[in-house]
Amino acid sequence: MKAIFDQPSFYGIPLDTLKEILKENGHKPFNADQIYSWVYEKLVFDVDGWTNISKDLKSFLTSKFSFELPKVVWNGHSKDGTRKFLVGMRDSKTVETVMIPAKNNRKTLCISSQVGCAIGCTFCHTGTMGLTRHLEAGEIVGQFLAVTKWLKENVSDEERLSNIVYMGQGEPLHNFEHVKNATKVFLEPKGLGLGQRRVTLSTSGLVPQIEKLDDFPPINIAISLHAAHNKIRSELMPINKAYDLTRLLDAIKKIPLKAHRYITYEYLLIEKYNDRAEDIEALIDLLPKKVSKVNLIPFNEYPESSFKRPSVTRINWFKDQLEKGGITCTIRTTKGADILAACGQLKSEMDKKLNLWEEENFTSPT
Ligand code: SAH
Ligand code: SF4
Repeated sequence: MKAIFDQPSFYGIPLDTLKEILKENGHKPFNADQIYSWVYEKLVFDVDGWTNISKDLKSFLTSKFSFELPKVVWNGHSKDGTRKFLVGMRDSKTVETVMIPAKNNRKTLCISSQVGCAIGCTFCHTGTMGLTRHLEAGEIVGQFLAVTKWLKENVSDEERLSNIVYMGQGEPLHNFEHVKNATKVFLEPKGLGLGQRRVTLSTSGLVPQIEKLDDFPPINIAISLHAAHNKIRSELMPINKAYDLTRLLDAIKKIPLKAHRYITYEYLLIEKYNDRAEDIEALIDLLPKKVSKVNLIPFNEYPESSFKRPSVTRINWFKDQLEKGGITCTIRTTKGADILAACGQLKSEMDKKLNLWEEENFTSPT
């Protein structure tokens, strides 16, 4: 795995790897379980607080890894309970992380996998930024830890995060190895212990990486489909020119469905563009029944985009027709609209404040 920093973050090291590293360097592998418990169960991020770990091992670990957590540099609270965080990394780069409350006291954290994104979807604000860099595994887990710590300090101890979706900035499968290691850390029963069904990865459809998913922890997979015609999909998502719908659907059929019984397809609804009767027919023809679930996402408008969100009547009609065609379907409600919680929107709004923050807090990025 390509190192992003000379000293990688500790929070991206899966338990098995940590055990190997300890063994190779003359330490006892069982110490890894104790260290995991300090960090991920007791949330003690300062090695000085680890009472049952030797000085020798602590100095080995701090010489090899960075234990610095990403910083919450800005946060917003929506009337509907959604919280948006701007999280700053060691080199001053920032990403968005959004906490979305759900029923039964569940809280989903929407995390970023890259700074910006290389895929360049025409409807997506992140896509217009281009890719600045991948996030290292520890920065991906770091968003979860930084928000957990922030909630504990600023809201209450009870505010525990229960689910993760890779739906912030970036294309997670473009950053395969780092996202894979971060996912292992999220799932580790001796650490954060999130269940496989509580983690969802959303991808724009990188076929070669989808074909490698049997080498990935078995989590939920969501595919950003957005169109059932190649012409429309290529206009929205340039990646469709490289891997069209036939290749994408072929690759999806081979995904091992261990953790779940179905694949979720995300379908952005854009007024008078992909919300027509012929789009419904094409979707019904395209998707394998019983194992497909469609999540309709009404387009989140933003000033720089000419795309519009269809009316509520149109959205409900689209859903009803799809269901009549035998496809299970849900509508994603917009969360945090008053704090610009949609993909990529905060970043531009916050640019001025951010620049100021970066200048104050960091020396020049490497
Ligand atoms: N890169 C991955 C995951 C991050 S994007 C992917 O594309 O799947 C997460 C979801 O937000 C995707 O389904 C994406 O299509 C959607 N999205 C992006 N811009 C949006 C907008 N303006 N309104 C609504 N959804 C948007
Ligand atoms: Fe990247 Fe996803 Fe946005 Fe497309 S929708 S540009 S893949 S973040």
